Amino acid sequence: MFNKVDFKEDILKILKIHFGKSLDNSLSNEKYYAVSKAIMNLITDNWIKTDIKYKEGKEAYYFSAEYLMGRALGNNLINLGLYEDVKEVLNELEIDINNIENLEEDAGLGNGGLGRLAACFMDSSATLSLPVTGYGLRYNYGIFKQEFKNGFQVEKADNWLKHGDPWSVKREEDTVIVDFSDSKVKAVPYDTPIIGYGTNNVNTLRLWQAEPIMEFDFTLFNEQEYDKSVKEKNRAEDITRVLYPNDSKEEGKILRLKQQYLLASASLQDLIREFKLRNIDFSEFPKYHAIQLNDTHPVVAIPELMRLLIDGEGLDWSKAWEITQKTFAYTNHTILSEALEKWYVPLFKKVLPRIYEIITLIDERFVEELKSKNIKEDKIEEMRIISNELIHMAWLAIHGTYTTNGVAQLHTDILKNQELNDWYKLYPNRFQNKTNGITPRRWIALANKELTDFIAELLGQEDWLTDLSMLKELEKYSDDEEILNKFLGIKREKKEQLARYIKEEEGIDINIDSIFDIQIKRLHEYKRQLLNAFHILDLYYRIKENPNMDFVPKTFIFGAKAAPGYFRAKGIIKYINEIAKLINNDPKVNEKIKVVFVHNYRVSYAEKLFPAADVSEQISTAGKEASGTGNMKFMLNGTPTLGTYDGANVEIVEEAGEDNNFIFGARVEEIEEMKKNNSYDPEKYYENIKGLKRVVDTLIDGTFDDEGTGMFEELYDALLKGASWHEPDHYFIFRDFDDYRKSHEEVSNAYKDKLVWAKKCWINMANAGKFNSDRTIRQYAEEIWSINSKRI
Ligand SMILES: *Cc1c(COP(=O)(O)O)cnc(C)c1O
Repeated sequence: MFNKVDFKEDILKILKIHFGKSLDNSLSNEKYYAVSKAIMNLITDNWIKTDIKYKEGKEAYYFSAEYLMGRALGNNLINLGLYEDVKEVLNELEIDINNIENLEEDAGLGNGGLGRLAACFMDSSATLSLPVTGYGLRYNYGIFKQEFKNGFQVEKADNWLKHGDPWSVKREEDTVIVDFSDSKVKAVPYDTPIIGYGTNNVNTLRLWQAEPIMEFDFTLFNEQEYDKSVKEKNRAEDITRVLYPNDSKEEGKILRLKQQYLLASASLQDLIREFKLRNIDFSEFPKYHAIQLNDTHPVVAIPELMRLLIDGEGLDWSKAWEITQKTFAYTNHTILSEALEKWYVPLFKKVLPRIYEIITLIDERFVEELKSKNIKEDKIEEMRIISNELIHMAWLAIHGTYTTNGVAQLHTDILKNQELNDWYKLYPNRFQNKTNGITPRRWIALANKELTDFIAELLGQEDWLTDLSMLKELEKYSDDEEILNKFLGIKREKKEQLARYIKEEEGIDINIDSIFDIQIKRLHEYKRQLLNAFHILDLYYRIKENPNMDFVPKTFIFGAKAAPGYFRAKGIIKYINEIAKLINNDPKVNEKIKVVFVHNYRVSYAEKLFPAADVSEQISTAGKEASGTGNMKFMLNGTPTLGTYDGANVEIVEEAGEDNNFIFGARVEEIEEMKKNNSYDPEKYYENIKGLKRVVDTLIDGTFDDEGTGMFEELYDALLKGASWHEPDHYFIFRDFDDYRKSHEEVSNAYKDKLVWAKKCWINMANAGKFNSDRTIRQYAEEIWSINSKRI
């Protein structure tokens, strides 16, 4: 039980022990640290108990190179059910809880959706009291901090550990050694508790940090060769120094391979060490372990387990292979071909010679298997793991695991029927769908306390945060004016809060009465921020032509980081910032539309944006977005989707109805048809769709200045001439432009009648139950991992 007096004393004691200070002279970040450590103190006994309990039987392990956790303090308090209590204690100490919450650095150990999914899965696993442990890497620098200079993205190092990390505990005693051809390093685990909601269970996220075996060379140091004496230390630490800031693009670097191998090898050594304490035969290994590979980044774990079993434990090949295949499961996250990870053989062989050798043996046996099934030669060449001097990690993943899953129904269907059709025909029973989800604890209970309280009041209890399907009961209020008006009041409050924050952070005033139209996600061509930009500019020109046109004011909000090496994505950021400058400085127009590109979009910013949105922009080219999870966060906060039939948008509309969302554009079938017949002619649209040429030409006619970088012309060429390996307008922006514009008109019309609009928002929220990540995790637990809840 929580005791306020004890808790208060704990905080004061920690300030004394850790900083040698009293409350009065402590800095804010020291107070944050002490409060966090006092919470660690509260949960430690349960954490130990949970660990012991889980060891009794089968556990699942989530291997992921990314965990986009965001902040821990507020979320942990919500999950413990102590937010209000702790707020009161802090008040008595004259500490403002919001103040110290906002001091916490985001743990940004991921790029975007894939890393955030891993974080939501951790929350759901703990909440369901499921024996699931996360394994990952403790990057000293997370995803870069983004600033804008003259509208250009500038990246800054994210030193998230500068004030220490109160939420992790170093477990020196569990250190393992990881071997590369040119060096050996220590992998040291740091454990972070994952506190469930409505349970006493506390799960574990274990992140490895690379350290040198020898801190420095004493002899060299004495010889005053200082740089040389710490060379090995730096080289080792380099491995987990920084997260690769790439999303959906292959990044073939030696350091990245070392990161992947460190994660795989250290985690498996950890599991094998524990398993051997059981003193049972290795054939029982899969009865105790299910390992989920989050995309291909940790797939090198497949040959690594083979190595550990054969070289380390003396098993023969066929027994080791059987164990391996029964242990691993693989999640595919993308259909973009450029994102399917491949390693160049000479590079791979140089860093991991023994692992390479094992992959060649897997490949040879696989070829035999295909031959025995009478698969044709050329098919075999396409499917084998090593071909054209490349190791295909996705093929290794499908072959070396017992299930492959997609992350939304449409995505899984495309995998089965198109991208991975050969594989589906080979292993039809291995393919599954697991539609993604989001944790309602962070994405509504923490981010939108006002709406959370209102829902609790209407439902008369609080269990709905674990059983989101209960939201369906709220549908009966969808014509209740009083309820809808209260709901609109909450939305307005969230919009005011966001407007204040945007004023502080970006220095821009926005109009609360305007439609907040929001697109927040990584910057990528397939996500089509450029389509959004073209539409805004078209709107601008139409308002200029016809200043008296009937118009509902709109504020267009963007948030997105571009991978530092992704030139075209950076060009799109600059272009949108140029459009923003033009529009926001035009006094005749800026009453009607405004454009804000918020800087450094991240989890903590996201928590302020989702609840304040009126429109959710989900406008990827159909077939390209595997699922999306941002779309679900909007829906849960009562925001209709303006989007294409893609990823989980399809299921969102299935749940909440087409009438309550705004679906536009080419569907997967149409796009496939155009590709097959080579019949897409962007030029035709460019010439004929009213207004399109006018906006596209601003890329080259001097309307905007890219300061001689050539960025804008390059974008223009990509659309009209084709660039690198792509056809012109590879993402069908011109095809969808007019449909998109019409959908915006529909949004404006619907918004004019407050209650008509509120009803759409309300029905979306009431039907968001499916997208709880608890549902997703239950399906993984039952249909892939075969594990059960184990409450302490
Ligand atoms: C949810 C989330 C994402 C994923 O957004 P999508 O729209 O699904 O691509 C990316 N970044 C952050 C910070 C998020 O919270």
